[in-house]
Amino acid sequence: MTRFWSSLVSQLDPYVPGEQPRVQNLVKLNSNEHPYGPSPRVIEAIAAANNETLRLYPDSTSLELRCAIAKRFGLTPDHVFVGNGSDEVLAHAFHALLKQDAPVVFPDITYSFYPVYCGLYQIQYRCIPLDESLTIRLEDYMPGQGLSAGAIIFPNPNAPTGRGHPLGLIEQVIAAHPDIPVVIDEAYVDFGAESAATLIAKYPNLLVVHTLSKSRSLAGLRVGYAMGHPELIQGLDRVKNSFNSYPLDRLAQAGAIAAIEDEAHFDQSRQAVIQSREQLTEALTLLGFEVLPSQTNFIFARHPSFSGAEFASQLRDKNILVRHFKIARIQDYVRITIGTNAQCEQLVQACKEILL
Ligand code: PMP
Repeated sequence: MTRFWSSLVSQLDPYVPGEQPRVQNLVKLNSNEHPYGPSPRVIEAIAAANNETLRLYPDSTSLELRCAIAKRFGLTPDHVFVGNGSDEVLAHAFHALLKQDAPVVFPDITYSFYPVYCGLYQIQYRCIPLDESLTIRLEDYMPGQGLSAGAIIFPNPNAPTGRGHPLGLIEQVIAAHPDIPVVIDEAYVDFGAESAATLIAKYPNLLVVHTLSKSRSLAGLRVGYAMGHPELIQGLDRVKNSFNSYPLDRLAQAGAIAAIEDEAHFDQSRQAVIQSREQLTEALTLLGFEVLPSQTNFIFARHPSFSGAEFASQLRDKNILVRHFKIARIQDYVRITIGTNAQCEQLVQACKEILL
């Protein structure tokens, strides 16, 4: 606290990202990064940058990238917004769309950045508890259950549980709230869930948010995007252009276009992660872990013999980093990112030793 801070800054409770260790030889399974590299075409596109291109500002509207995204999803570019990671896209969505007179509603156990944005932009929010199996009960988001929501946001699949939700149920929620914005955060959708992007033409209140950090293996490039009715996109643009005209640099725009266009690499690399996830789930289940069914590139697991904190710390002693959350109801769990097959084997071996 310093006397120079605004009163708002003194009250903030900022998000804490997963540790980015500087230690060598650590098996890093704590930030849901992709274990394999991005499309080689991304590296080529970035390498093509030169004195002339970097001397100039990038396209502030990222039009070519928006066209590439629109094409992939059968939309037009006025349905697409891009930002510096989906974190920035989500922040603008909170500011532009989710700040309403009535509170924005989201699950109690979900992406922990949501309440942080509410703190930053002074947005009222209400959390709806997951059920005992740590599943979002979409019935609770229907009108008439005492729900007076100004807006709704939830991830599909949810994080950090990894559970996906049927698109049919999600559509019911969107359809039941034609007069308020509904944002579906699909950061992990490519690992096995069904995207709501196909519903965009039907529902002008729907915004779907994606990232290139997970299934496109580009966490280091910082590119995310939102798709929705042009009116929603214009709202996001107004906030973006009141904040930073150039959130995506030239390298990010060039790399992102190449990533979106390389469908073959995308398919093959996400399938590899899905396959490793199924193998890891099976191996940990055999060791007595309870592993929640995951449709993401991570699993959420607990073992009856350990608290989550103790388990994470024992893995850390063995040079394996996983994520533990000191949050009521999920303290027993650890979130483990799917690594390469070799990393997954190292993890299973470490678990065996810890359980001995
Ligand atoms: N949404 C969810 C549910 C996430 O877990 C993350 C990753 N922390 C993000 C959005 C943001 O990802 P990025 O900013 O890298 O696009």
